[in-house]
Amino acid sequence: MRGEELVVNEALKVRALPEGSYDYLLEFLRLYRGAVQIVVDKIWGIDEKLSWKKLHRLFYSDLVSMGFRAHHAKEIYVNAKSLMNSAKNNGGRKPVLRKLSARIDKYDYKLDLDNMTLTLKLHNDYEVRLRLIASRERVEKFRSWSNYELVVKYDGKRFWVSIYFKRIVKPLEPRMVMAIDLNFGNVTLAIYTLDGRRVRLKKLNTPHKKILTHKIWIEKIQKKYPKSWRFIKNVRKAIERHGKRIKNISWDYAHKTGNTIAKLALKHNSVIILEDLEKLRENNKKGREFNKRLGLWFYRRIQFCVEYEAGERDLEVVKVNPRGTSSKCPRCGGKLVEDGYRVLRCRKCGFIGDRDVTATINIYKKYISKHSRCGVSGVAPNAPKPDENPSGMQGNKNEAMTTES
Ligand SMILES: [Zn+2]
Repeated sequence: MRGEELVVNEALKVRALPEGSYDYLLEFLRLYRGAVQIVVDKIWGIDEKLSWKKLHRLFYSDLVSMGFRAHHAKEIYVNAKSLMNSAKNNGGRKPVLRKLSARIDKYDYKLDLDNMTLTLKLHNDYEVRLRLIASRERVEKFRSWSNYELVVKYDGKRFWVSIYFKRIVKPLEPRMVMAIDLNFGNVTLAIYTLDGRRVRLKKLNTPHKKILTHKIWIEKIQKKYPKSWRFIKNVRKAIERHGKRIKNISWDYAHKTGNTIAKLALKHNSVIILEDLEKLRENNKKGREFNKRLGLWFYRRIQFCVEYEAGERDLEVVKVNPRGTSSKCPRCGGKLVEDGYRVLRCRKCGFIGDRDVTATINIYKKYISKHSRCGVSGVAPNAPKPDENPSGMQGNKNEAMTTES
């Protein structure tokens, strides 16, 4: 599957405001609905298989003489046939159309995303221009996509347009592995080559102190008014204010971090490895610690932004079970014990390493052991075996302790 081209489809649904009168557009939608119904009525009783060619022969000239353009006609009988098929497949009765909606081929509209306008070609050579109501941000990403079809609808009050976009994605083969360790105080990311050499290390401090300050404020207020804080307006307002600050700080941080991580991963063409937070909750000390101090929501938010930013850049994100990532020796599998501030040591083999860096080694190894065995393309033949230590992690204190930022 990988390495092949992949087509991604997405619809952009927006409100549309006709410029000037919309009489012709409404007339077109009614005419279109009527035409689809006529075709459905006629083909409902036909049992033989209806090819496009046959549909064309049966309906094309009638539809054109009703004032429809060539591609309108095609959309009308294609639409009618698919309606009939789905009704028959569900054992239902002959469909009766009520909604005012028309499917329009790319030859019959002109979309201008710069000016946010859409021109539709209607029956009898009428045209209508619509203004699209959507924010720049929503539309921005579709600029580089191609669009091929749209549906225009009238719901009784407003017009809506769904524009179908597609783009072709060529997934990149990852050449590097970026392991990410989320901690209470920092996010540590390390990029490894497929044969285990570390090429980049970065620690991003989290705003945990700021968040905790606001959290403590909230708790203080709640303690002071244990029963009534919900009901006294000013007290509730104060709590909301702190809550809002927490929300802003954490989203800002998550966006920034997601962006930094995805940019780096793109630069190094790496797959991004995260710990699976769902599994963290059940079986890990770290999970309990997170929950006690900040709440897992904060780390979920960061992961959400990492995955989102990675998705925007067509980067792969893989989640691994966090079990043991900060307690197992990456060299021999023995148990690690604390040996000073944020330093871990293996009693069995003497490995010593920075706690966060060690976690990234373990996360990296979990990914490699899972993905090199099933022969994922892109993993070099000389990649370390699951039980083998990647080079550059030889328990040399200086090596595993080096940090850049
Ligand atoms: Zn060891």
